[in-house]
Amino acid sequence: MEEHLQEDLASLSDLDEKSLLESLTGRFSHNHIYTYIGDILVAVNPFKQLPLYEKEVSERYKCREKSSLPPHIFAVADRAYQSMLGRLGTGPKNQCIVISGESGAGKTESTKLLLRQLMELCRANSQLEQQILQVNPLLEAFGNAQTVMNDNSSRFGKYIQLRFQNSSVKGAKINEYLLEKSRVVHQDEGERNFHIFYCMLAGISPQDKEMYVFVVHCVKICIDLNSVMTQEKVDMMTILAGILSLGNITFETTDSDAVKVSEKSQGWLKATAGQFGVQEEELLRCLTCTMSVTRGESIHRLHNQQQAEDARDSIAKVVYGRVFGWIVSKINELLSHKLDSDVALSEIGILDIFGFENFAVNRFEQLCINLANEQLQFFFNHHIFLMEQNEYKEEGIQWETITFKDNKPILVGYRSVPLTRCLALFELFFNLQATDGNFVDKLNSKFKANPHFEVVKSHSPLFTIVHYAGKVQYNASGFLEKNRDNIPANIRALFINSVTPLLSVLFAATISRTGTLMPRKAKVCSTMKPLVYHCHAKCPMQHSLAVLMEKMFAASPHFVRCIKPNSSKLPDQLDSKLVMDQLRYNGLLETIRIRREGFSWRPFFKEFVQRCISILNTTELRGWKCGSSRLFFKYWHQEELARLLERLGKAAVVIQKNYHAMSCRRKYL
Ligand code: ADP
Ligand code: MG
Repeated sequence: MEEHLQEDLASLSDLDEKSLLESLTGRFSHNHIYTYIGDILVAVNPFKQLPLYEKEVSERYKCREKSSLPPHIFAVADRAYQSMLGRLGTGPKNQCIVISGESGAGKTESTKLLLRQLMELCRANSQLEQQILQVNPLLEAFGNAQTVMNDNSSRFGKYIQLRFQNSSVKGAKINEYLLEKSRVVHQDEGERNFHIFYCMLAGISPQDKEMYVFVVHCVKICIDLNSVMTQEKVDMMTILAGILSLGNITFETTDSDAVKVSEKSQGWLKATAGQFGVQEEELLRCLTCTMSVTRGESIHRLHNQQQAEDARDSIAKVVYGRVFGWIVSKINELLSHKLDSDVALSEIGILDIFGFENFAVNRFEQLCINLANEQLQFFFNHHIFLMEQNEYKEEGIQWETITFKDNKPILVGYRSVPLTRCLALFELFFNLQATDGNFVDKLNSKFKANPHFEVVKSHSPLFTIVHYAGKVQYNASGFLEKNRDNIPANIRALFINSVTPLLSVLFAATISRTGTLMPRKAKVCSTMKPLVYHCHAKCPMQHSLAVLMEKMFAASPHFVRCIKPNSSKLPDQLDSKLVMDQLRYNGLLETIRIRREGFSWRPFFKEFVQRCISILNTTELRGWKCGSSRLFFKYWHQEELARLLERLGKAAVVIQKNYHAMSCRRKYL
């Protein structure tokens, strides 16, 4: 078979890094962007429209055996759906589809294709199905931005849960993770803010822009959620305008070393206060000083210029984060339909989350993303092992004595579990009671002996973690602040007292797990944003990921590994080094290693017997015939064959016996 036609690379007898890369490259050059490695789907982004997703293709991939058609994302949807319904030999079970890959690799497009095909599969033609597909532009307007990697890059991770009853979809829920709020206040060269701000500005006339009065109908995106009232829409747009105005406020240091809003941005201060519906003096106070309460006395400490700028930025981020959380909660309200209480519920979850990141400068966000990926990799390895184990068990193979006690490095990693290793590390980080100044010193003294940690000799606060996908150096400035991310009391009070009802609600309320706004009960606003940053007092990351992992471990997983063929977003070009790096980050090379530890050639008896027949042809046994369903031997052949088999050894006898037993069983079926 020609190399590029090999659709399942797990069946390559010499599966290694080189052959994997060669096969993917060969297939890609023929527009075969999808390839299986066992039950993992590898998808290489074509960066061009291919005729792969038409109605006719979608029909073809319904209820079909995986091996009967070329690899396709629709086949993954089909398998998840059929397995959820218990039609693939196992009982019905929740499913999860984990999509990974670096920015621009095609995760979000794959998610959309999966959603679309799942809706086709359950033949949903209700309003709900339409809504599930339609909320995406809204979500993308608020959560996506143009970056150097991807013109429409998702700046948050999401887990979409589709809920089914009696094989039809009955509701959906979106969980969002790690919104990159810092983008609101800072964008690197070649990058932009969240799309919504540009949609908003494109939608208003120059006069209106000057006055910053927002005309909601001009926003071209579909903010037509039934559950969002007109007043809320106006409020939301006004709040977003407030964020933009806030960003225009600059500060100066006065002669007496105090900080003040610069002359030229006085107007912006006024505008911001107006849009946020708060008193100008109150806002000014939040920007220019910190208030703390000590022994019942409130103490005001004046900010320096940097602190004032930080306060401005953190207000912008926290407000945007809340608006985003609110949008998601509104979407969830819309999609949570009534379920029949007496019909069993099953679920398909789709996870679309940033891949492993290693930039020139890596910050808190990268640490969170990489630890999340570390955890996903653990989940992936665990599954691959589990599959091997299950297969051995089903086949009655004594595997324990054969492979898994051989402590190859990867297996050690598996046994000591990168998950606990890293999260424990993370929790310890933030339990150190450190300040920004001595954080890295404390890390260094605590973890210098840890094999997954490396001390960096530098005047900057740097440290290195050895991840499964390689070493990453982090810059710890601002780490503690970002992790805390709690809202100072004066800022919370400022917004609770806002005359803009939505803003007041956003800061006075918490959003429940079902997505509805609830009066605040707990001291820490934990469920408002299940973002990694703050669900748990000291180690928020652990909590929100743990909840996700719990869901995923209780489901049958399907994996889609997206690969970006080149960094220029061009069609028909594949950069081998870039792809190889991704194969590593995606854990595909690890999979190969795991596969090598086990028994990678697992022929069915039929296939094996066919090979035996070819062997028979080469023996001295003469005069036998091969019919269409059976072999024809002379009476003396049996004895000769026995002698031959004896020479082949015990293994062959076992095969013969089992094959015989299997054929006997088949007769009665
Ligand atoms: P990610 O979510 O991994 O960052 P996206 O899914 O946003 O990446 O994909 C980036 C871009 O790549 C898309 O905007 C689209 O232009 C292109 N793309 C991705 N997948 C496909 C596909 N299957 N067919 C055609 N173009 C694709
Ligand atoms: Mg994306």
